Amino acid sequence: MPWVDKNECTGCGTCVEECPVDTIYMANEHAEIDMDNCIHCGICHDVCAEGAVRHDSEKIPDEVNANVAKTKEFMNACAKYLGNAKEKQKCLNRMMHHFNIEKIIAEKTIEKLQMLEEK
Ligand code: SF4
Ligand code: SF4
Repeated sequence: MPWVDKNECTGCGTCVEECPVDTIYMANEHAEIDMDNCIHCGICHDVCAEGAVRHDSEKIPDEVNANVAKTKEFMNACAKYLGNAKEKQKCLNRMMHHFNIEKIIAEKTIEKLQMLEEK
């Protein structure tokens, strides 16, 4: 999914003009993407001369760190609200299970998407 690096965006407006579904707008002189309507065509990435439209793969480290931080919060909250330090480990196991399910969903989705490839 595309996102705009505000440090690189000069506010030229080219991506706003070229987006086929008009889902990019200017806010505080920088482009913003309303992902609800984005059809993932990649045009904004191709037309940006500044390289300001980035790929979501660049956010992987931040997203992993956010997931770990969220899990730690839940572990501490489980121990606090359930009144037992052992709940931390149970919570950790549940969160690993949760992310494993997400991994399986992604893998099975990719399998099905590969079947859509035109020969
Ligand atoms: S084309 Fe690039 S620099 Fe121009 S407004 Fe869009 S993101 Fe910003
Ligand atoms: S990927 Fe396509 S639809 Fe999505 S914001 Fe960029 S130009 Fe618009």
